[in-house]
Amino acid sequence: MTEDIKKKIEALRQKIRHHDYLYYVLSQPEISDKEYDDLMRQLKDLEDKYPEYKSADSPTQRVSGGVLEGFKTIKHRQKMLSLDNTYSFEELRDWDARLRKGLGREEKIEYVVELKIDGVSANITYEKGILTMGATRGDGETGEDVTQNIKTIRAIPLVLLGKDVPDFIEIRGEVYMERKDFNILNKERDKQGEALFANPRNAASGSLKLLDAGIVAKRRLNFFAHSLGEYKGIDIHTQWEYLNRLKEWGVRINQESRLLKDIQEVIGYCQDWQEKKETLGYDIDGIVVKLNNLDQQRRLGFTLKSPRWAVAYKFPAQQATTTVKDILVQVGRTGVLTPVAVLEPVECAGVIIKHATLHNFDEIKRLNIKKGDRVLIERAGEVIPKVVKVMKDLGKTHFEIPKTCPVCNGKVVKEKEQDVAYRCINPSCPAQLERGLLHFASRQAMDIEGMGESVVSQLVRLKLVRNFADIYKLKAQDLARLELFKDKKVNNLLSAIEKSKGKPLSRLIYALGIRHVGEKAAYVLAREFKTLDNLARAKREDLDKIYDVGEVMAESIVDYFSQDSTKKLIAALKEAGLNTKEESGELKTSFLSGKTVVFTGGLKEYSRTQAEELVRRHGGNTSSNVSKDTDLVVVGDSPGSKYEKAKRLGIKIINEKEFLNLITPKR
Ligand SMILES: [Zn+2]
Repeated sequence: MTEDIKKKIEALRQKIRHHDYLYYVLSQPEISDKEYDDLMRQLKDLEDKYPEYKSADSPTQRVSGGVLEGFKTIKHRQKMLSLDNTYSFEELRDWDARLRKGLGREEKIEYVVELKIDGVSANITYEKGILTMGATRGDGETGEDVTQNIKTIRAIPLVLLGKDVPDFIEIRGEVYMERKDFNILNKERDKQGEALFANPRNAASGSLKLLDAGIVAKRRLNFFAHSLGEYKGIDIHTQWEYLNRLKEWGVRINQESRLLKDIQEVIGYCQDWQEKKETLGYDIDGIVVKLNNLDQQRRLGFTLKSPRWAVAYKFPAQQATTTVKDILVQVGRTGVLTPVAVLEPVECAGVIIKHATLHNFDEIKRLNIKKGDRVLIERAGEVIPKVVKVMKDLGKTHFEIPKTCPVCNGKVVKEKEQDVAYRCINPSCPAQLERGLLHFASRQAMDIEGMGESVVSQLVRLKLVRNFADIYKLKAQDLARLELFKDKKVNNLLSAIEKSKGKPLSRLIYALGIRHVGEKAAYVLAREFKTLDNLARAKREDLDKIYDVGEVMAESIVDYFSQDSTKKLIAALKEAGLNTKEESGELKTSFLSGKTVVFTGGLKEYSRTQAEELVRRHGGNTSSNVSKDTDLVVVGDSPGSKYEKAKRLGIKIINEKEFLNLITPKR
């Protein structure tokens, strides 16, 4: 019996590894994502049920370990050298001539050409086919141990495939981010009000150095292997052979690499990619040319810093020089202040450039850029041009970080956890109003049905709504001015607005969009302070006493309520008749009183937080783990291992509908 289970688990692992190989290495998946997820779930369930068969190299163990304090420093077995750069075909020909002179003119040589991926180098060690270490390049001799993070990258196998694996090998390659994943990440960060990454390379290197592998796993990092460090127990004769072996082992390599017979072909390849590099889904900044034969490589050896047998050809940068006419500060939808350089219009790679991003205020300091300076700008891919450096220091006055918001004059605060981000925290700041209104009306907040993006943007544009309280002053004739708005919709929206006035205090607190105050925190604050006025008067000490409120959140709350604009807003909301008090006698006695409830799987009617709030309102407790102390497990869609465990422990299990029946008063 147990032998069968063990076999079944191992078979599932093999199957998943095979599909990883098809997907990442060959780009020829044979099953859908859904089917893949099903395999993973089967494996995970079995491993949960039979923990004695858990194994660090199982595909389920890509995210493991907790949050680290810091990274250990490790020494690479073989140095990770940097390549010499060349910037013209002439230099490439020179390099080729030197190399052939070094080897003897008669000797036959071949080159392997590879795209130079704009990412971060990593060194991955396998012992007997098992991934044992992943490290950053660092200074080339020592790097940081980022094994936990490397393991989350699905293009990197935890176990090398096939029988013929080396006893020991250092596989070098580039960790990078595809442009589409970079855009998704930045969009998400924009939504959360976090500072944006300047380019995919920064996003990749920032992600690789996160201490929480759980977050890294969500970043969708990718990998191409390209170089060889120390190795034992296999014979490899050429770079081309090595690349093919990598592929057999299930390590992802770039499909555009070629084996070429002379420097003329190499130059043709470089020209080719210089023109079509934008067609790739990721950034490259040149071509790497390597001598194919490893024996010839050894004979040529190294200079102090780099190998003689390889060189990078860098694409000409798309750069231009121009004058900074002004430095403006823009306010994003989340209130983040971003400095922008206004430029004397200049042509760069066929496009007229008038603005360049300065990313953040630290960047201004780093560049020491001033209005009037002559600067070098650069375009990379589709990204907005950036300022590379100041060419001529002609400006007089240093830029000063604004103390108030350039849009609304509201207070600007510096974020503690992210030193570079400055933010306007005025809740009625026009730059942030649309986003704020959408949040205010969202289902988890005031739940005003019909106030979607199109309605909100029209309300703001027509200046019908300038702050949250204005929503409650809207009349039928105002709404009739909106495009495509019929009578019925007008009435529906007005009644949804009216209905929202009676929402619980916790929802109103959440709806205000106070930074760092999520659904759960809003619930806690409502319970602790009972009225919005009490919360508005709360001091740091009062907030610090609350277990669920951290330092950052406490500061953000005090900051928020200390503003005049907030005080006005709250007065207006009260005048409009919104409920600003926590319901008394909130603890309804019911079947749930004193019971511990666990949710598993996706719910349809409520978010997890809302459902947990309901349990608490009915006098119950919630927990995230099933144990013998659990009284009730509510099962939603695709429940996880908690469901299995509850079954094993014989705990009462109900579905979402039954749960809703329990908490809804009978009429
Ligand atoms: Zn503002």
